[in-house]
Amino acid sequence: MAEVLIINEEEKRLIQNAYRDLLKSIKSELNEEDRMNIRKAYEMAVQAHSEQRRKSGEPYILHPIAVAKICADEIGLGPTAIICALLHDVVEDTEISLEDIQKQFGERIAKIVDGLTKLDSAYNAESPQAENFRKVLGTLVEDVRVVLIKMADRLHNMRTLGSMPRHKQLKIAAETSYVYAPLAHRLGLYNIKTEYLDLCMKITDPENYQEIAQKLSETKRSREEYIKEFIAPLKDNLDDIGAHYEIFGRPKSIYSIWNKIRTKRVPFEEIYDLFAVRIVVDVTPEKEKLVCWQVYSIVTDVHTPIPERLKDWITTPKSNGYESLHTTVIGPKGRYVEVQIRSNRMDEIAERGYAAHWKYKGLSRHPDVYERWLDSVREILEDPNSDAVEFLGDFKSNNLFNEEVFVYTPKGDMRILPKGATALDFAFHIHTDVGYYCSAIKVNNKMVPMGYKLRNGDQVQITTNKNQKPSEDWIKMVATGKARSKIRSAMKEERRRKGEIGREALERKLGNLKVDFDRSVEQLVSQYEFPSHADLYYAIAMGELTIPEIFKTAKVDFDKDGQRHLSFVEEEKPAPVEEKPRRERKPKFTGKPRLLINGEPAEQFNYTFATCCNPVQGDDIFAYLTANAGLKIHRATCPNATNLMAHYGYRVMKAEWITTADTTFVAALKITGIDDGPGVIERLTHKISTMLGLNIRSFNIEGNEGYYEGRISLLVRNTDQLNMAIRALQNLSNVSTVVRID
Ligand code: MN
Repeated sequence: MAEVLIINEEEKRLIQNAYRDLLKSIKSELNEEDRMNIRKAYEMAVQAHSEQRRKSGEPYILHPIAVAKICADEIGLGPTAIICALLHDVVEDTEISLEDIQKQFGERIAKIVDGLTKLDSAYNAESPQAENFRKVLGTLVEDVRVVLIKMADRLHNMRTLGSMPRHKQLKIAAETSYVYAPLAHRLGLYNIKTEYLDLCMKITDPENYQEIAQKLSETKRSREEYIKEFIAPLKDNLDDIGAHYEIFGRPKSIYSIWNKIRTKRVPFEEIYDLFAVRIVVDVTPEKEKLVCWQVYSIVTDVHTPIPERLKDWITTPKSNGYESLHTTVIGPKGRYVEVQIRSNRMDEIAERGYAAHWKYKGLSRHPDVYERWLDSVREILEDPNSDAVEFLGDFKSNNLFNEEVFVYTPKGDMRILPKGATALDFAFHIHTDVGYYCSAIKVNNKMVPMGYKLRNGDQVQITTNKNQKPSEDWIKMVATGKARSKIRSAMKEERRRKGEIGREALERKLGNLKVDFDRSVEQLVSQYEFPSHADLYYAIAMGELTIPEIFKTAKVDFDKDGQRHLSFVEEEKPAPVEEKPRRERKPKFTGKPRLLINGEPAEQFNYTFATCCNPVQGDDIFAYLTANAGLKIHRATCPNATNLMAHYGYRVMKAEWITTADTTFVAALKITGIDDGPGVIERLTHKISTMLGLNIRSFNIEGNEGYYEGRISLLVRNTDQLNMAIRALQNLSNVSTVVRID
């Protein structure tokens, strides 16, 4: 039976109040026309959604009103965006068409609403996440407001996720942490990003979320006392500045606290920076830099600063527009306290991001920070060589989300690259050709390997040589999407060029046999399972697959109509191996550590340990139900984890270790150091096998210009043993770094 959808009197009042509330939250000046158009959009939306309700049962129209309010209140958007937010679901869900909107509200608004509708249908389709993400960014470069409104839409949906079934909650949460949170961060929408991640955690990890929330509220009072104690001795001097200011403690988000507990492996009680102290001064833009440093000086006169924690994002703002002065000082009782110093204007940008930034455009000393980023997004979008998955990888791993490093050309021009960028990235950053022909790199007048990680202040000088060209291993020496995609296309081109010989040879042979070329190539590609034609040609050219080999199994056959074509002789299949008698096989469960999956003993499930992250007893783990290989156990920090959750969150199950069984796990370490002559390997293996008594499963080491890099697989019983091995290796004099790898 259809639900009765008539909106009652009480609901009508609710809707009108929500609308009135929305109008009050609009901060920009509204002229008569704006006011009229907002009213018109509201009435159109009320009418269009009048027969719909949300999962929770409330009238649907409350959703677009709430989204519009978030746009106004929390992102600081103006009337155009508010109109679009009110209309954001009408084209998709109701009778109203895009033409109707264009007639009533004009081209601009129709375009944005269209973008929002397309974005929605992109997500409803069964297309892969990576492709969706590309679409999101495609709309972003057209009009950033589309994505900003989408952010508000997603935020309201996350806030009201309670009435959705569990598997949908997990999927939406995964998508949010995978796509929306990093994008919000990049757009400078810090508050929204923080709330996204908190809401995600509330869904994916409710126990830890509740536990931290509760501990935060239990310790609130003592924290407030502490903040008072911290602030009190500053007040007199701050009053002397003669500018209005605010000083307060700001709690960190539950998600960020949890992250710290997880990565640093310390209990809640030992985390002291549960809050930061923020000082916001109300001064004119001309005086803000001076006054902020004055405040810094007052704070550090009282509380001892830790110099390496000073971050000056006022002189050089972050690429998302963030400006602030951060420092960490030693407060009362010897605790570290982070202090953030900024002006009102900077605070507004930091809290509300791009839109707020817009409003001040022209006033900021760095008006182009956004444009530069949007340009690099455009550049990646336009690269025809990157497929969607590579694109997403590039986008996530590099540059576009991360912070940056400042380096100089030999002439002293400053260049900004993403943090983690290498010397070779710098070469590609200067010009594609400089990258292609790069043959040697000096940093601060010393030769460095191409994969050298840039540091702030480095001066980089590139030498080129026309005979040089990119090779496969260059990919590993760069971190930016630009360099990676340029190298990849050079490699593809090189492969294609080399494959030409293979193609010609095959063409001759097929010509002699008088069979159709295209059809035969198609057959060969599928027979030998090559990803593409180019790969077939390349394999032939390189002798990996020879023509005589092909024609051992391929022969000419005739169609019914006498056409010649290739057919393949069935290779004799080896007889199925008979199952060995049970007693010869390994007993089924020995060697497997004991686990609980979703709280139940794991023996009843068919599970294996994922080889992408090699969990070791003691690691945080989860179980993932694969399509055809049973359950795989991954580390919670596995690089594939978010990806899996975003695609198939509902397949993820809780897993935990129960006993310290006497079994071993494979763990891989990467070791780098100085190659100080023969015997490096002996010293390392001696330490591991003789001194620590651990078994080495594999070991390989590569030396290069006095550096070496080794990968070593060890058999360990648990994380304690592994950490012991890491510490012991770190203490060797010829070892510089030891890290666990996946
Ligand atoms: Mn919506």
